[in-house]
Amino acid sequence: SSTSREWIRQPIIVVMGHVDHGKTTLLDKIRGTAVARKEPGEITQHVGASIVPASVLKKIAEPLRKYFPKLQIEIPGLLFIDTPGHELFANLRKRGGSVADMAILVVDVMEGFQPQTVEAINILKEKKVPFVVAANKIDRIEGWKPTPDAPFLETIRNQSQRTINILEEKIYRIAGELYNHGFEAERFDRVRDFRRTVAIIPISAKTGEGVSELLALMTGLVQQFMKKKLVTSSEPAKGVVLEVKEEPGLGTTIDVIIYEGVLKKNDLFIIAGKSKPVVTRVRALLMPRPLQDMRMHEGRFTQVEEVYAATGVKVSAPDLDDALAGSPFYVIPDETRLQDYLKMVSEEVSELRFKVESDGVVIKADTLGSLEALLEAMRREKIPVRLADVGNVSRNDVIEASVVKKSKPEYGVILAFNVKLLPEAEELAAREGVKVFQSNIIYHIIEEYAKWVKELRE
Ligand code: GDP
Ligand code: MG
Repeated sequence: SSTSREWIRQPIIVVMGHVDHGKTTLLDKIRGTAVARKEPGEITQHVGASIVPASVLKKIAEPLRKYFPKLQIEIPGLLFIDTPGHELFANLRKRGGSVADMAILVVDVMEGFQPQTVEAINILKEKKVPFVVAANKIDRIEGWKPTPDAPFLETIRNQSQRTINILEEKIYRIAGELYNHGFEAERFDRVRDFRRTVAIIPISAKTGEGVSELLALMTGLVQQFMKKKLVTSSEPAKGVVLEVKEEPGLGTTIDVIIYEGVLKKNDLFIIAGKSKPVVTRVRALLMPRPLQDMRMHEGRFTQVEEVYAATGVKVSAPDLDDALAGSPFYVIPDETRLQDYLKMVSEEVSELRFKVESDGVVIKADTLGSLEALLEAMRREKIPVRLADVGNVSRNDVIEASVVKKSKPEYGVILAFNVKLLPEAEELAAREGVKVFQSNIIYHIIEEYAKWVKELRE
């Protein structure tokens, strides 16, 4: 168009790791830092995401000049996805990769690698998402003397040699685990080539120690290695549906992360639906109301006319009841191209959701991203899949599994990730003797299933 312009957008960052290793605490700390250190009027609240603006990154980087002498802030900020519920929400897929530009893999320094750490690493490897490791909970190391919010390289100087040795040993162990998964890794201040070596940043999400270096390092890495990838322009928006949500007075809405272009009110867009693609128009774009305004106005959201990548936004539109979480989101530039977009979305989704007439298990998951992760796990474990789909376990899923059960009992089961077993499905499963393995940890599902297969064979 005549008014096309370009800008560098915020890199999109996801936080992953094993349950209880401190993802939520770290995100809260980062958000707290952003809120505490921003100037009045700087908006950092987004739907499904928090932005640490450049002004805050500058303030954080200032005391770190000694360690990062060349760090100039050129990006408008860092956008962190607030992954709701479980880790695999972070698997925000897009054609040919991930919506995430970078990831923080949180590892409890006391516990080291755990099953979900491995699940996260597998996803990052699969999607070629660069990452750093936050070795969290350093305040729990024996004898640790905390200095709240201090840089790691300063707080480490206050520790006894014994405490330093324990930390070194734990970091060495994490580096060893990373090596077993094919990655060279080092404490961040000893890394020479960040393209070849994964940086480990010792932090405490609780005391804030090391968090400033984590943010500064992410900024530096992004600016050095992926600035070109962050250039976007005033083209039709591309995004991913993070969540599908009922909102009082608005009906079904979708929370979307926009990674490219501009999204405007009345734009025509397409997403994947449970039965078929959904094509509809933006009725309203909604952003959270700043906390101080909430008392003066009705509702938690305020309307905007347009939003720019990168951002999280709530989209209100007709016909969203059928929307699929994890779906691609595309603005259709003009209606003559509708067929192309229908084809593109159908293809992207049918790679994942399928039904084949063969002996294999039924798998169900809550989003397209988690379904993809579960499918990958099935491939690794060499478990054949008959039916893969998003949604709660239905009567029809039980029927599918019971058909398989007759010829191949070990595959006549349902493996369900973070979804419900509908009452009529539960009833039928009991009657047909179809086992349903349910968890929000893939590892648990596979472990329970393997145990059951072993018992079956004995
Ligand atoms: P998540 O499951 O990965 O989101 O983990 P949470 O952020 O919920 O943290 C799990 C528990 O570990 C909570 O009780 C946190 O207070 C605690 N925790 C998180 N980070 C730290 C840390 O740096 N130090 C200490 N001592 N505790 C932490
Ligand atoms: Mg959490």
